[in-house]
Amino acid sequence: MTGTAVYPGSFDPVTNGHLDIIERSAKVFNKVVVAVLHNRNKEPLFSVDERLTMLRESVEHIPNVEIDSFNGLLIDYVRQKQAKTIVRGLRAVSDFEYELQAASINRKLDPEIETFFMMTNNQYSYLSSSIVKEVAKYEADVKGLVPSPVDEYLYEKYGPFTAE
Ligand code: ADP
Repeated sequence: MTGTAVYPGSFDPVTNGHLDIIERSAKVFNKVVVAVLHNRNKEPLFSVDERLTMLRESVEHIPNVEIDSFNGLLIDYVRQKQAKTIVRGLRAVSDFEYELQAASINRKLDPEIETFFMMTNNQYSYLSSSIVKEVAKYEADVKGLVPSPVDEYLYEKYGPFTAE
């Protein structure tokens, strides 16, 4: 497939599930822009700058990926990037309802922009940024869950772990 695709999300922080979607979509599209959304209602653990840094370090091996952030309406950002496709990942039925709603409203706002869904790799179907944060908070063993550069940032955030 040709053209540019935008993969939007919170990436708080990027996980191996996200990275898998990025690697696979980079094989499908000429260029993939991974876009970190500012101004979410939920209180993030990492600042947008920290999330961008972690993403940049995690995708160094993929040449056709750009890391960026955006404010406001996704469709406006996609247009500004001259992209025609939005990429989203699907893990379970629980993701479906929200994604259907988002894809439908985006199609209504701009019928020329298509949402492209990629099924999670089975080994990451349980993986989310929230689960990673829980694990880091209590056990600190996040190996295999996040790209290796992210380990360090999680340790820094939660501090050294002491057995109690
Ligand atoms: P959002 O807050 O927009 O859902 P996330 O950073 O949580 O942002 O996720 C961004 C996208 O990546 C979403 O489409 C989500 O479904 C997808 N995603 C998250 N975790 C995984 C995973 N383990 N496997 C595949 N897709 C995933």
